[in-house]
Formats: sequence, structure tokens, C-alpha cells
Amino acid sequence: MNLSIKSFALLFVFFLVLALKPIDPPKKSDAIDQRVKDILAKMTIEEKVGQMTQVTIQAVSKVQGTNNQMHQLDNAKLEDAIKKYHVGSILNVYDVAHSVDYWHEIINKIQNIATKETRLGIPVLYGIDAIHGTTYTKGGTLFPQAISMAATWNVALANKAGEITSYETRASGIPWNFYPVMDIGRQPLWSRLWETYGEDVYLASQIGKAYIEGAQGDDISAPTKLATCLKHYVGYSFPMNGKDRTPAWISERMLREYFLPTFEAGIAAGALTIMVNSSEVDGIPGHANYHLLTEILRNELNFKGFVVSDWEDIIRLHTRDKVADTPKEAVRLAVMAGVDMSMVPYDFSFYNYLLELVKENAVPMWRIDEAVSRILKVKMQLGLFENPYPNKELAEKFACKEFTSSNLDAARESIILAKNQGSILPLSKNIKVLVTGPTTNLLSAMNGGWTITWQGNEESLYPKEKNTVLEAIQNKIGNENVTYVEGTSFDKDINTSKAVSEAMNSDAVVLCLGEPAYCETPGTIFDLTLDNAQLELAEKISETGKPVILVMLEGRPRLITSIEPKVDGVLLGFLPGLEGGNAIADILFGDYNPNGKLPITYPKYPNGITLYDYKPIESFDSYSYDPLYPFGYGLSYTNFSYSNLKLSSDKINKSDELTVNVDVKNDGEIAGKEVVQLYLTDLYGSVTRPNKQLKGFQKVFLNPGETKTVSFILNKNHFSFIGQDNKRIVEPGKFKVMINNNIVDFSLN
Ligand code: BGC
Repeated sequence: MNLSIKSFALLFVFFLVLALKPIDPPKKSDAIDQRVKDILAKMTIEEKVGQMTQVTIQAVSKVQGTNNQMHQLDNAKLEDAIKKYHVGSILNVYDVAHSVDYWHEIINKIQNIATKETRLGIPVLYGIDAIHGTTYTKGGTLFPQAISMAATWNVALANKAGEITSYETRASGIPWNFYPVMDIGRQPLWSRLWETYGEDVYLASQIGKAYIEGAQGDDISAPTKLATCLKHYVGYSFPMNGKDRTPAWISERMLREYFLPTFEAGIAAGALTIMVNSSEVDGIPGHANYHLLTEILRNELNFKGFVVSDWEDIIRLHTRDKVADTPKEAVRLAVMAGVDMSMVPYDFSFYNYLLELVKENAVPMWRIDEAVSRILKVKMQLGLFENPYPNKELAEKFACKEFTSSNLDAARESIILAKNQGSILPLSKNIKVLVTGPTTNLLSAMNGGWTITWQGNEESLYPKEKNTVLEAIQNKIGNENVTYVEGTSFDKDINTSKAVSEAMNSDAVVLCLGEPAYCETPGTIFDLTLDNAQLELAEKISETGKPVILVMLEGRPRLITSIEPKVDGVLLGFLPGLEGGNAIADILFGDYNPNGKLPITYPKYPNGITLYDYKPIESFDSYSYDPLYPFGYGLSYTNFSYSNLKLSSDKINKSDELTVNVDVKNDGEIAGKEVVQLYLTDLYGSVTRPNKQLKGFQKVFLNPGETKTVSFILNKNHFSFIGQDNKRIVEPGKFKVMINNNIVDFSLN
């Protein structure tokens, strides 16, 4: 009896221990994979092909939204798209920004049909170009565009921009953002340069990574997070002739050295989707390139998410690129190259052709299953199967003060002080100022494309409560001290002579030049030089002898070489977003100490553009790097000095890390931020090595008189390059480390 009680007690304790022992829960990703398999097993071919189809909201709308006309969905067409064609995704807007409430109506309607009126209840994935904030939602927080975010050299701000954009886009009920652009901006004529994080691989990778981490967070299924989309994979940004959607000629080595690493960084940061290059590289259209879309993207870079085509680009393999002799062959080529979803976007041709191709065995079922699994997986990761509806509570913090204040921080840090002759800046607040030029009084000129509308140039749709440069200056020093004369439009004289006579009555002139808003192919230009009318306005104003501050608002570095020596101060604003006006006024009148640095080379000449990481041959003989302003450049109202550049060793092995320390001191009278930039030069190599390359940066804040020691750790990734066999290698040899004017050598064994 005793014994049996004892054994019973022992058994009880044994089972209790077993019960309390934590059992490893099934991994979330395994559970998702299993659910994807279960759904896939239930799907018909039609339902699968539908998941791979994406249409624009225009295709399911009755009335286009405009300023005075409410957009209207076409219920019958919407039902057809979802119930008959089983579309997996819908995108964009019908050229207008909606209120958060109206977005809720749209998304609710779509998800009700998808989840309640279809056999399997698969939610639709809605996608949008919220590229510098929730651009198609009224009242949203619109950050500086990418080129300006890169000019902040501040990863924390990029992370914040990702986080806030994600919050506000999700507040509308939209869980997928076609952003960030991870193309490298090495062709200044290109109309999408401003959508990139600039010309340098390291800077763009760091800013892009921070943005993705902010947007997607640790848990993508959280209600405030969304899926990002790296675009446009790959080589799109380097058109030979500078025009949008024209061929790039990029060798495999250069592709791997300059164009792939940013995508690699984006994949490592967890981006769930990728959009394809609309154009071609080395004669192969992006959408038909099996080598890039499958061999490199999947087999080498190990990308697990799904690949979406760009706008109408599959059919263009037939209509434009002529690599497919029928539209149906175009669909086969793209799907077999590795495109998982087609942004068709106006009709169901892709669906019909693909269905035929599957039935004819011209596209194998495994390829369809692969694509559909990837799409379903992203929908599950986003938590759409649990809740596909907008979360009403998020509307509360939409465009709140805290978000606006982060936006102002970003705008202030994005502006570059490029010239300050005789310390003309900051200006006193007790003077009379003439403000003139075409970008003076336009919010659109500070925001660029993808703002409210695709082209971003509908000024009347911009929020009235935001300040243009003119309004911000008026607020700062009082209306009575500010005279405004248009001077010119972007390309024509309006009243230059009046501007000149008003300049004579003023103490200083703020001359705002640049570009109107544009985007994609409509932004193509044939000459990088700024329009003549604007240059003439600058010439004539400078002849008055009054101090002139030139403010450039533009998407690419329009040439100002002829007028730059004639002005006293230059601010390069690029596209600083909705708080840009306030930020510029703060800098002009000394309420903020500028700290932006150029993320691109600002050229002096229109042709033969040389970038900062040029090859030895480009500075040999009579050639030189002679830009108007170099990459990484930007002044402050204080002075910083650098000393004590020290390495942990002057000889290291390939697998060793090298610690680099440098002291930075604020020698001036006011506090300020400085971007400490570390460059490396590899002195000799089996492939020609660049003059120098950025390998680290940190933004530090220093009070007057304060010194900080800034540390960097370098390793083999920083010393590597793409060798003759197109593989990444590290070669022994001598290197130089440069931080500002401090240079130290080391050798690698
Ligand atoms: C652009 C993409 C964009 C897509 C959807 C295309 O024309 O190239 O960047 O995401 O349209 O709007």
C-alpha cells in the first residue's frame, strides 16, 4: 500500500515536471508555412493565377477623384475583379488623396468581398506608393524625399520616417508600401534621382536599412507596421542617356559592386517584397531576366518574399521591348524569369494568358505554386488573414504634433549650407528682405512627385496650413519686412525688372530657384543646366550689389555654375517636404545650425560627370574631380576640427577587425551637429580601385568647445571588392583611412 502510494506520488511528480517543462512552441514561420500549404491545397488554378494578378483601383472605379469630385468605386467591376478573377492585389489611387475615413470605406468594401464573398476568403493585399509619407492620404505627414533624407546622414531620422509613414499608411488600412527605392543615384540627369538615397552604396544601404527597420519593425503583423518593397531591381537608375526607362549598360562586375549591394542590405533588413526594373540592363529587360530575378535574387541573395512587376511592364516585353512575339509569350517569359505578381494593371489579360499557359503546360504548376505561396505568406505575415480591416483607433495619432515635429527635424537636417561668403548667413531678423523666384511660394516645389497626385504638381490640393518658403520667412521676420515678387516662372520671365527694383529697396535677397514637381518619364530633361529665365533673374539680382542668398529646391542638381560665384550664400534644399519652408527660414535666420551633407556630387559641368569614387584614370593626365560641390560636403555656422586619428593596428590579417578612433572638436561659438565621415582608399588592386569610398559615418552633436572621440570598426566587408571573376574578394595590400583632413595608413596581410 505504502509502496503504491509512493509510486503514485512519484509518478504524479514526474508528470507534473513534464507538464511544467516548457515545450518549444512551433516556430511562427513554420506555422505560417503550414497554413500556406493548407490553403494552396484547396485552391483552383483560377484562384492561384488570380492571386498573381494586381489591378489598379482605376480598373474598378466609376468616377475619378478630383478636388471637387468624389471618387467612386464601381461595385460591379470590383466584384468581378475579386470574385471572377480572384485578384490578389489592388494598388494606388485615382489621382487624388483621400481622407482616412474614405480609405476605410474603400478597404472595408474590398475586404468584405474578398473575405466574405469568396470560397476561400483570402484577403486582398492593397499597395501604394507612400514614398515620402502617406502621400495619397489627406493631411498626412510628408517627409523630405529620399535624396533629402540621405542628406541628413542620420539613420535615426530615416528609421523614424519609416515608422511614421508605416503608422499613417496603416491608419488608412493599407499594409503594403512600394518603397524604399534602393537604386543608386549615379546619373544626375535621371528624373527619379531624388527618389534614391544618392550616389554612394554605403550611405544608401544604411539609410535604406534604417527606413525598412522603422517601417516593418520586429513584428510585421503589428497593426502599425507594413510590408516594404525594394525597387527597382536592378540597374534601373543608370540609364545611359539619362532618360527614364531607357537602357543601362552595366557589366556584371559593376552591377555587383554598385547596384546589387543596396538590395542585399534591404533583404538583410527584412524587406518582404521587391519590384522589378522597368527598363533593361545589357539588352535584357528586367522582367525577362532569369539570371537576375532567380539565379542571383533567389539562389544567391536568398530572398524569400515575392517579386511584383512594375506598371504594365510584362505586356511591354511584347509591345515595347520586342523580346516576346505575342503578349502571351510575354507573360510566360516574365513568370518563368521569376516575377510572382503582375501589376497588369488595367485589365485581366495577364490572368487569361497565364491560365491558358498553365493549362497548356507551358508554365509548370510548381512555378505557380511557388509564386502563390510567396504571396500568401506575405499576407499571413502581415496578419491580414486575422484582420484585413483598417484599424479605426490609428486615426487618432494620424499627423499628430509629435509626427510633425519629427518631420521638421528631418527637414532641418536635410538642408545643406553650400556657400557662406563673409558669414552672410545667418541673416539678422531686423532687415528688409526681398523674396523672389519660382520656388518661393510653392509647396509642390518642396515635395516633388508622388505627393497627393502622381506628378505632385497640383498646388491647389496641398494643405493650406503648411508654409512655403515665403510664408515661413514672413512668419519669422514679419510681413512688413518681406517683399515678394515672382521674378520668373520656371522657364519664363514674369517681372524680373520689378524684382530688381525691389532688390534695391531691400537689405538682402532670398532667391528661390529650382524645378517644378515631376516624376518618372514626364520629368525627363535634355539639359542639366538650370533654365535660362532663372539664371537671368539671378544675374540681374546679383548686379544690384545687394547680398543674395540662393535657395535651390529641386529633384536633381541643376547646374548653377554661372551664377554661383555671384551670390553670397547658397542653401541646397532639394525636396525637404512639408516642413521645408519652416526649416529653410530657421536656417536663414539662425534659429537652426545647418548640418546636411551632400549625398551626391553637385556637378559643375553638364557632361562627363565624375562621381566622388572615381577611378585613378579619371584623375590622370589632365582630368580631375572638379564638381561645384563634392559628395559629403556641407557647411555649418560653427567650425569643427579633427585630430588624433588612430588605428588599433597598422598591420592586420583579413579576418581581423580594425578599430578607428578620431577626435572631433567644436571650435566655434554655437552648438552644432557634424557628420564624421570615414573613407578608405585601397592603394593597389587587381581591379582598378576607386579614389576613395565611404565606409562609415556618424552624426554627432557638439556644444561649443566640446570634443568627442568617435569610433568605427572596419572588417573584411569594408576591405572587399568584386574581383576579376565577378566574386567578392579581399586582397592583401596597403590602405589609407581618411577622416576629414586626417590620414593614416595600414596594411592588410
Ligand atoms: C513606378 C513604380 C511605382 C508603380 C506603381 C511605376 O510607374 O515605376 O515606382 O511603384 O508605378 O505606382
